[in-house]
Amino acid sequence: MLKKVLVGNGYTAIDHHQIKFLPQALIEIDTSGVIDRVLAPTAPDYQAAYQAAQQAHLLEKVPADQVIFPGFVDLHVHAPQWPQAGLALDKPLAAWLNDYTFPLEAKYQDLDFARQVYHELVHELLAQGTTTVLFFGTIHPEANLVLGEESLHQGLRTLIGRVAMDNPDQPPVYYRDPSSQAAIVATETFIHQLNDLGKGNPLAPIPVITPRFVPSCTDETLAGLGSLARKYDLPVQSHVSESNWEHQYAIDRFGIHDAAVLDHFGLLTSRTVLAHATQLTPEDQALLRQRQTAIAHCPISNAYFGNGVLPVNDLLAAKNRVGLGTDISGGYSPSLYDNLRHAVALSQVRNDGISRDDEGIANARISMVAAFYLATVGGAEALNLPVGRIQAGKIADLQVVKDRFKRPTETAQERFERILYQTHRSEIMQVYTQGDRVYQA
Ligand SMILES: [Zn+2]
Repeated sequence: MLKKVLVGNGYTAIDHHQIKFLPQALIEIDTSGVIDRVLAPTAPDYQAAYQAAQQAHLLEKVPADQVIFPGFVDLHVHAPQWPQAGLALDKPLAAWLNDYTFPLEAKYQDLDFARQVYHELVHELLAQGTTTVLFFGTIHPEANLVLGEESLHQGLRTLIGRVAMDNPDQPPVYYRDPSSQAAIVATETFIHQLNDLGKGNPLAPIPVITPRFVPSCTDETLAGLGSLARKYDLPVQSHVSESNWEHQYAIDRFGIHDAAVLDHFGLLTSRTVLAHATQLTPEDQALLRQRQTAIAHCPISNAYFGNGVLPVNDLLAAKNRVGLGTDISGGYSPSLYDNLRHAVALSQVRNDGISRDDEGIANARISMVAAFYLATVGGAEALNLPVGRIQAGKIADLQVVKDRFKRPTETAQERFERILYQTHRSEIMQVYTQGDRVYQA
């Protein structure tokens, strides 16, 4: 049984070198929200399927000046930081955390405040064409449940982590877990509460084991979280070697690198996503590869706090798993389109160098196709979710985008690139998750 049939021009990534153009594709979505078939006009069944959909009033025609993309997957959002997106980006990381971020995150014990912010944030992400988000919450389980409720209510696919942070030497006393035991108990309770909240819903938020980052956790907490990840077979998220400071912190405290510390505590798995990774050594990158741990590349945030540009091309060539993240609010923009553009632009800077006597690093430039791959397939694979492609068997999480300009002589590939460079929020016309329209401009 079909729920809906879209017909229009679509694009989907094949790999990080190639996209597939789907002219006037008939996208059949079954009642469970999964793409049943994608038919080209040359397919023998096309006409019959088209007419059947029309007669059953299931057909939605996407106008010729609009295109269909898979919905984007955002691998790194700090939900509580949304009110400060765009603030204090000229401050060093320590000041940004202590003067802005921690005081703001501490406010989420107020559930009315949480409701107001999370309602707005979820709506904004959908309006930007994002259909799946991996969220950091706060230390407050109830506020994180509010984020789950808002996501379910508005139709955003989410994974949500209750942040654990108990190291008395790092986060301030007003915003940290009072003990390792408290951090572990609160995390385990939240896992059950979030599972109950989404029971039976295909968009049920998935709980995520979330040590904020190595510096904010004691050894006992890192070990306890590793055990919980194993016990419940859950995804894990954290940060890794984001900056020179974070990279050096692990060396000073443990005598090994940040990635190796996470591995030591059982936190590097094929369900782990680590943000930033700009300071990883080739050995660290190989360790992530071995564990099939994914990297959330956050190019805007890295420009402010990363002390470097991620070698995306090398990582993709080596078959590391990489997706894209906005890193609200280390990144100011909720738009993955903005991040696609920054990923390409920063890679060009890495390629060309930053001054007359700096020759840069050869073959560092990534294409817009690669950036699109990161925001769709890369993110989906990092989360082991069947989304991110317009393809039979994948869940119908899609966005429909308006092309403001007519360029009759350009190729399908050229049109694809131009649209990705020029799309703004106002051109994102429709967004679907699980085959249901969840946003309309
Ligand atoms: Zn972050």
